[in-house]
Amino acid sequence: MPVARVALDVPLPKLFDYACEAAPPIGARVLVPFGAKQVVGVVCEIARASEVPAERLRPLGRVLEDTPPLPAEWLELARFASDYYQRPLGEVIAGALPPRLKRAEPLRARAAAATPSAETRFTPGPALTAAQIAAIEALQSALGRYAAHVLYGVTGSGKTEVYLHVVRAALERGTQALVLVPEINLTPQLERELRERFPGVAIALAHSGLADTARARAWLAAQAGGARIVLGTRLAVFTPMHALGVVIVDEEHDASFKQQDGVRYSARDLAVYKAHLARCPVVLGSATPSLETFANALADRYRLLRLPDRARAEAALPTVRLVDTRRDAPADGLAPAVVEAIGARLARGEQSLVFLNRRGYAPVLACSACGWVGDCTRCSAHLVVHLGERRLRCHHCGLEAPVPRACPNCGNVDLTPFGRGTQRLEDSIVARFRDARVLRIDSDSARGKGRWEAMLRAIRAGDVDILVGTQILAKGHDFPRLTLVAVANADAALMAADYRAPERLFAQLQQVAGRAGRAELPGEVLIQTRYPEHPIYQALVAGDYERFARAQLEERAAAGFPPAVAEAVLRAEARELDAALAFLAHAITRAPTAADDAALFDPVAMTMPRLAGWERAHVLVQSRSRRALQNYLSEWIETLYAERAPRGVRWHVDVDPVEF
Ligand SMILES: [Zn+2]
Ligand SMILES: [Zn+2]
Repeated sequence: MPVARVALDVPLPKLFDYACEAAPPIGARVLVPFGAKQVVGVVCEIARASEVPAERLRPLGRVLEDTPPLPAEWLELARFASDYYQRPLGEVIAGALPPRLKRAEPLRARAAAATPSAETRFTPGPALTAAQIAAIEALQSALGRYAAHVLYGVTGSGKTEVYLHVVRAALERGTQALVLVPEINLTPQLERELRERFPGVAIALAHSGLADTARARAWLAAQAGGARIVLGTRLAVFTPMHALGVVIVDEEHDASFKQQDGVRYSARDLAVYKAHLARCPVVLGSATPSLETFANALADRYRLLRLPDRARAEAALPTVRLVDTRRDAPADGLAPAVVEAIGARLARGEQSLVFLNRRGYAPVLACSACGWVGDCTRCSAHLVVHLGERRLRCHHCGLEAPVPRACPNCGNVDLTPFGRGTQRLEDSIVARFRDARVLRIDSDSARGKGRWEAMLRAIRAGDVDILVGTQILAKGHDFPRLTLVAVANADAALMAADYRAPERLFAQLQQVAGRAGRAELPGEVLIQTRYPEHPIYQALVAGDYERFARAQLEERAAAGFPPAVAEAVLRAEARELDAALAFLAHAITRAPTAADDAALFDPVAMTMPRLAGWERAHVLVQSRSRRALQNYLSEWIETLYAERAPRGVRWHVDVDPVEF
């Protein structure tokens, strides 16, 4: 009797055996008994016998036939993710499947989607630049085989236009395209563009904002081949594709591509492997490629395609100037030079954007009499003052409390908000520019259905003079009347201990600067700083990402940081920090001993130790060789899985971590 080996959503690194009369197809969804419950799993292997004694081997429930079996290539990607990210296959599969397909009730059949047609209609776009043509030709000639490309194009250089042409070429070959963006916010704009340029072509969306049934249907349409283009966020990388012809990862440097809980995968890196499995090209696009990607390009593993100029001849790159706040001291957050520049825009009927990557009114509420500070009880963080709603909010765990009328410690009624968030900046801008129409855009003001789209429309229609906003504004949007970007306070990021902080700051500022002057009006960027001589700011003024990236890579190599080394952390969480540290100290004693090519560091608390009531600590593992690191981790984790973690301690491995 055949044995079906089934992946289940269980934190154990193994498949579960079930006896069956006839072998189900590999990749089939099945309903199986597990303990007292019936659960949905996926058949990963068929074996002739089981190590489980016959009397304990339970029969397979039934095969769920409302969906076709998952393709072999899909299982291969899940297996790769399981091995690479050191997570049980069952958990990877459960995390990848749309929620609706983890339930047994059959998905009602729907009228068959349009069958794939060879005649792709393509609405022509703007005239292409020589650099765009060269990139498109390079990518078209790569269709039909695996090759990784970095499309490094300055803001406004027309990367999207290159994507559209490559998608067209892939569709004309009868294959499908997968397009990944870092945030849901970016999907409506790109979806609209895809629908305009590919009229009649079926496009499937894949992101967490979709209703369960819609997401499952999109998934099935992609698997059947009816959907020719799949557009989505990081989870879209797991969409099964009938005939994948090209993978595009836009804003590939964005940290949102890394999943931060459960299976901690990088959708960008899995996208590269998915393309490898499908033998098709992958395009990683960015104005500021991640250092990992840039290093791969320098080492010729990825092919570098440059778009050095803006696509519209009349839209020059903005000039970047530094405002030295030691000499030009800000009042209410804005230096006189910035106030003057905004005033000039107002006089000319142009738009300004004041960028501050900190939402809320003030980041800290404190008592000047006794030194009390409003802290989150569940996180190592201050509560942020939201003055409009008179609330204190933790931006990490969501804890909320009313703003106290008096100091809870000494009764002083004069509590002081310290520092400046977007709300406070908005207030001072409204007070200063009384006739201007000011719009604040951050995740607080943009919350709610349709709010974000309505705000974008207002900006485009010219109903706004001054925008105040966080990075939510920085990505991928064109504002033709916007000619000034003022960066209110970026210096805090220079002090961060995280070795990735300079890379992130550069990318963020470059991106927000790129919003200025994208149409015929020239753009200007003013950065307020106390450290104008800092290399990051100097590189921004010079507009020289490559020099900055090379310097960063040298620094990382000298300091022994990625991408010069591969790294992972074993992270432990407990209610008491000591318990987490004690578990890690024990775990180290269980680590493989004979490993010259992997270095293990001492357990330490994370930079922000407490999050949502859990104290967090980790052990860093580094190796010059990615494979050596993988082997080391597998061996180590197998031992840890075999033991039971102490009560109240949970642990996981994070490969290529971005949070320390
Ligand atoms: Zn007090
Ligand atoms: Zn909190």
